[in-house]
Amino acid sequence: MDQRSVINHRYVGRFAPSPTGPLHFGSLVTALASYLDARANGGKWLVRVEDLDPPREVTGSSALILEQLRALGMDWDGDVLYQSTRLGAYESTLEQLEHRKICFHCDCSRQRVSGLQGIYDGRCRNRGLNSAPGLASRLKIRPETIRFTDGIQGDYAQNLEHEVGDFILRRKDGLFAYQLAVVADDAEQEITHIVRGYDLLSSTPRQIYLQQLLGLPTPSYAHIPIIVNALGQKLSKQHFAEPIDLKNASSLLISALQFLGMTPPPSLIGAAPVSLVTWGAEHWDIQRVPKLAKMTR
Ligand code: GLU
Repeated sequence: MDQRSVINHRYVGRFAPSPTGPLHFGSLVTALASYLDARANGGKWLVRVEDLDPPREVTGSSALILEQLRALGMDWDGDVLYQSTRLGAYESTLEQLEHRKICFHCDCSRQRVSGLQGIYDGRCRNRGLNSAPGLASRLKIRPETIRFTDGIQGDYAQNLEHEVGDFILRRKDGLFAYQLAVVADDAEQEITHIVRGYDLLSSTPRQIYLQQLLGLPTPSYAHIPIIVNALGQKLSKQHFAEPIDLKNASSLLISALQFLGMTPPPSLIGAAPVSLVTWGAEHWDIQRVPKLAKMTR
């Protein structure tokens, strides 16, 4: 029997777009890498819409992203999870940590922290500020080095005290921090394998640290190079990356496969998206993904 037709219950992957605009070439490559790794391993592939930050959200983009994924031949398993439906779960995750007295409130301004190169110096750690609107919640970290082996980038280590500092779990505006939400959701969805962009590699130790504190399993991680423009900027809405034009779905998928180290044969030029992603899953080898932080389009 073809191994790929057997469902691998030990593999659950996910793509977790933020609905800040339609997919562009960079987010297409990330979606494709996580999709191919899941399908090549006979695993499930889930989609989670990270709509945690209403001010940054662009109306209509969640629906558009889902439509784009479908048109690109990447169908997901089960229902889409929306972070906006999970606020109660984030609240109780935060409470668990607060009860252990490993959180504190903080009134430091963004300017102050950026003046510290983003590495929080613990100013509010022992000030005993009471919970109040307009204060952030931070986690008191132990001076610990977190190590893990990334499926693409290899061994990675980060000293949380020197490279990050006590990090935010709930922001001053009351919104839950990405680090807290992503850990709660990866556990809730029983994610076993995470394939995402290199820009999140340095967030991974914070996520592993939180998983350890909360007694949650740590998934396997693999970080693909991010796609940058000729100026070296990550393709993103802020840098005016063009949305995917579905009229070019086939050629965009071919070039995304090439970025991921694959060589689709000329006979696939112009093929339907489903044929391209099926070919991709059959030929996927994560070790061929370039071990780079970024690649220029
Ligand atoms: N929502 C994040 C983004 O769009 C991805 C988070 C993740 O994959 O952990 O950059």
